[in-house]
Amino acid sequence: MEISRTFPVNELFFSFQGEGCHMGKSAFFVRTNGCPVGCLWCDSAQTWHRDYKTRGRHLSAVQILHEVGDASPEFLVMTGGEPALHDWSTFNQTIYPLHIETCGAFEIKGSFSWVTVSPKTEKPPTIENIKRADEIKIVVENESSILRWENLIQEHNPQVPVWLTPEWGCRNDPDTLGVIVDFVKNAFALNYRAGFQLHKLYKVDAYDDRTVPPVPLGGNPLRGASI
Ligand code: SF4
Repeated sequence: MEISRTFPVNELFFSFQGEGCHMGKSAFFVRTNGCPVGCLWCDSAQTWHRDYKTRGRHLSAVQILHEVGDASPEFLVMTGGEPALHDWSTFNQTIYPLHIETCGAFEIKGSFSWVTVSPKTEKPPTIENIKRADEIKIVVENESSILRWENLIQEHNPQVPVWLTPEWGCRNDPDTLGVIVDFVKNAFALNYRAGFQLHKLYKVDAYDDRTVPPVPLGGNPLRGASI
């Protein structure tokens, strides 16, 4: 395994996958620093916001796997920030299945057994990444959050599960939740699924001391990373 390449790691922690098709399964998360997209409601702004971007350390694949230790997760999740800014091919020989969670706007480098694409209007996903996605996760504020991606997904990956997750600041908004229910009940166009960020309900990240607290964005404590 190549050891010279390093990754800008914001945090490593053992937890469970809180969203999508693998919800509830144990997972070891590798969260990288850096993302050029800048979503207003980003829940990991500590990876790119100017006041926090110096957090973290550079680690090689060997060093990261050493931190996994005897945790025995079902899989590793490369997340961010934007993990597709990095070439993960040095992890190809690991015994763990590798998952990646990306906005899909950048070429995915490395061998992944599961690809989650969460499209963002600020920097839309490539057609290649839509085709490669094993699941799509749309963060929902209103109906247009869903409709803006429908044609793209229908054209390039019509069978993929499409998870509709309320933006955390809208998690109790009956209008947002009602939109999701409507799309799931009338899922003629795509395989829509009702999603939620289960890990935030559990506050599960707090069960590993290595996690880095998220930072609030935009001055609105009801939005973004404030949980
Ligand atoms: Fe980047 Fe994802 Fe945060 Fe958007 S939500 S700024 S794509 S890390």
